[in-house]
Amino acid sequence: MTNFGQGMMIVLSSPSGAGKTTLTRMLSEKNDNFIISISHTTRTPRHNEVNGKDYFFVDKKEFQELIKNNCFIEHATVFNNLYGTMKEPVIKDLSKGKNVLFDIDWQGAEQIKKKKLDFKLITLFILPPSSKELKERLHNREKRDDVMIDERMSQFKNDILHWKDYDYVVINNELSDCYNQIQKIILSESKGLKCNYDEKKIEEKVIELIS
Ligand code: 5GP
Repeated sequence: MTNFGQGMMIVLSSPSGAGKTTLTRMLSEKNDNFIISISHTTRTPRHNEVNGKDYFFVDKKEFQELIKNNCFIEHATVFNNLYGTMKEPVIKDLSKGKNVLFDIDWQGAEQIKKKKLDFKLITLFILPPSSKELKERLHNREKRDDVMIDERMSQFKNDILHWKDYDYVVINNELSDCYNQIQKIILSESKGLKCNYDEKKIEEKVIELIS
């Protein structure tokens, strides 16, 4: 059960392109009390990304300084870029009773779990329906950046092997179905109840995706 007056930490991870950013946005738009933690990154912004909304884009030197000053709850290197979640705004929002959504990778999820903060934590892993679909989604997003697509496709098998470290795994076959499943899990967990999910089915899907 959530501590009275305190928010929940909801982590969503997935291989790049499986839809977690869209799902995170839907959750924050449809639920008054949900906000998205905006990460810092050294990655170059995509054409449609806005500083302070999608990420705080900083250079390596600034990022290293933030690490040195112990400003992050977690930070990791993903695709040769640094990504991190700032501690102070997150703790402030959680203490005010907001539920904070984290769109972070498995390394970040692991670090947050280990911190054992005094807030309820739910970790969810999103799987794509197929590797073909994942590649198509990356093509649509990255346009002609074949290097980036190949890099993310080669990382994807490694990423999904971490599914067992999460509380829940959901397949993003159809966006609204996947959203409803996540919403149901969060609602149950907020009442202190576990949701069942078919681990066997997920294991079979993971085998299919990595083979
Ligand atoms: P992208 O460059 O496509 O926006 O993100 C690449 C990966 O980095 C995604 O899996 C995303 O979830 C992850 N990521 C984004 N922000 C953070 C963060 O603050 N910490 C960690 N550990 N991963 C992050």
